[in-house]
Amino acid sequence: MPRALITGVTGQDGQYLAQFLHDRGYEVFGLVKGQNNPRGTLLQEEFPFVDVVSGDLQDLPSLVAALEYAQPDEVYNLGAISFVALSFRQAELTANVTGLGVLRMLEAIRMVGGRENPTRFYQASSSEMFGKVRETPQNEQTPFYPRSPYGVAKVFGHDITINYRDSYGLYACSGLLFNHESPRRGVEFVTRKVTNAVARIKLGLQQELALGSLEPRRDWGFAGDYVKAMWLMLQQDEPDDYVVATGQTHSVRDFVELAFQAAGIDDWQRFVRLDERFLRPSEVDLLVGDASKARKVLGWEPTMSFPELVTTMVAHDLDVEQRKAEGRR
Ligand code: GDP
Repeated sequence: MPRALITGVTGQDGQYLAQFLHDRGYEVFGLVKGQNNPRGTLLQEEFPFVDVVSGDLQDLPSLVAALEYAQPDEVYNLGAISFVALSFRQAELTANVTGLGVLRMLEAIRMVGGRENPTRFYQASSSEMFGKVRETPQNEQTPFYPRSPYGVAKVFGHDITINYRDSYGLYACSGLLFNHESPRRGVEFVTRKVTNAVARIKLGLQQELALGSLEPRRDWGFAGDYVKAMWLMLQQDEPDDYVVATGQTHSVRDFVELAFQAAGIDDWQRFVRLDERFLRPSEVDLLVGDASKARKVLGWEPTMSFPELVTTMVAHDLDVEQRKAEGRR
């Protein structure tokens, strides 16, 4: 039975990946930080097959201990301070967890990663590294110009992963994943914030939706598709880096409009208000990825279209909010 250790296992991608690997016969270990972390408890209720290991990307000894315990064939490093807006407010913490955390995990693998069967490493790199984009669409060769402490920390994580591959011959891959969403996305991110608000407005539980800029454009895919690409990267003969994206870009406005339409509301402007608190000190205006390499080498394809993604998320949130409301009655 192959063994995998996932950091960030309580997040959206960690959950999809845990299920994906379990379905393929893996023994799945998940790193969870903190003392009596409620997200760890929830994870165990929903994914009882995950063996929860306590540890923190800021604490090297805990990573060494987690690797000694799990003896993984594959490590997926998804743990991070991943919310761009928070990274502006807690820049040092972001550098430590999102950036240096990668270095610590790589060092831990060098210390205790299996000798005969060396541990393979996946680093969750991000399209936010492209930031103020140097070319469109963005591919594996596009130079980085990060626009947030999060993006800067991810560039470090990306480069150190490549450096450890070059320097020590680790099987280490970096996936440059463009935005990917799902009903499991946290409500701090714009997509889920919108679909959750649309559901609540539709049910009369909320009056308005306060947002920052509606102009930024993103290449939004479905998270369930993207975790498959992570796994595929670790199954190749040689480690390499891949862009994972749909190749289509939409504005925040497009997402908002489609989400309201999915709930049968056409005059969405009535409900949306600009709130400057959601503007960022520097913005990423346009992202769109070229995933030709992943398609060609990994045989990877996205399966969910943008309208399908939006309607799925809205339908899920309508269902959840309806149940919550009924529970209160
Ligand atoms: P990001 O691409 O990793 O920053 O993902 P987000 O979902 O957090 O943000 C996507 C885009 O939506 C960014 O350009 C944000 O500035 C924009 N945006 C506009 N209003 C909001 C908002 O209220 N919340 C969030 N999270 N983003 C917003």
